[in-house]
Amino acid sequence: MKDKFTATWVSHTSISDYLRCPRSYYLKNIYKDRENGKKIQIVSPALSLGSAIHEVLEGLSQIPTQKRFDISPIVKFETVWVKFSGKLGGFPTEEKEIQTKERGKQMLRKVMDNPGPLARLSVKLKQDFLYYWLSEDENLILCGKIDWLEYLKEINAVHIIDFKTSKKEENPNSLQLPIYYLLAKNCQTRPIEKLSYWYLEYDTLPTRMDLPELDTANSKVLEIARKIKLARKLENFNCPSGKKGCPACQSLEAILRGEGEKVGESERHNLYYLTRENNKQEEEIEEMIL
Ligand code: SF4
Repeated sequence: MKDKFTATWVSHTSISDYLRCPRSYYLKNIYKDRENGKKIQIVSPALSLGSAIHEVLEGLSQIPTQKRFDISPIVKFETVWVKFSGKLGGFPTEEKEIQTKERGKQMLRKVMDNPGPLARLSVKLKQDFLYYWLSEDENLILCGKIDWLEYLKEINAVHIIDFKTSKKEENPNSLQLPIYYLLAKNCQTRPIEKLSYWYLEYDTLPTRMDLPELDTANSKVLEIARKIKLARKLENFNCPSGKKGCPACQSLEAILRGEGEKVGESERHNLYYLTRENNKQEEEIEEMIL
């Protein structure tokens, strides 16, 4: 039965966690620190870079088109960066922080030189955080946040853009764009004309991707959401590799063993710093969790 408070909420991030491994999903999405009931998050340079860049670029959509670049995004980046400096951003050394920050500035310089869709009209939805009933009967909700919606005035349609700060290209089987497509279809009224990834590290324009087939996207997401709901009901999140484990959740297990250093708190998470040798996943985590 439909009830927002007891529903199982799924997003691209939680679905990816579950597909990687149920225990990985449990550690990131269910486990809570005894101390204050917050979830755990490991800070890392890649995650900090992604978060800072997203905050600066997404903030631009709040500003009218003609004034969007009146204040340099690099100036804004400097302000935002304060939140991610030092151990709070997962930086083991000052050198690593300077290097990462410079990468961010380079990305923003590229955007300022080639603003493309960011200099054109955008759609600002009433709520940044989107959600809808994936299945009312099964009490399942799909949620997420779309980085940028360009408004295509001539055809009164939208272009979904996802900013990428990672060096790696998104896996072609990723459900990210199908999920954004479903969210945009169900949470706003304009037709969706285009979907793109924008690899900020090396591209000067978004890369257009094929539009997913709606029914297929819906069935795939629904199928995984059902599995997640069942796993939560049965509390079945055991490691399929037994005690040996695999690299995907070793960093989180290290936090549970008390090997991390708590460096701060966000609204929903306790933020932990791990030494590089403990944080084997550092280079894999390239995007912010929304
Ligand atoms: S160590 Fe085990 S539980 Fe963790 S991600 Fe790997 S297989 Fe899953």
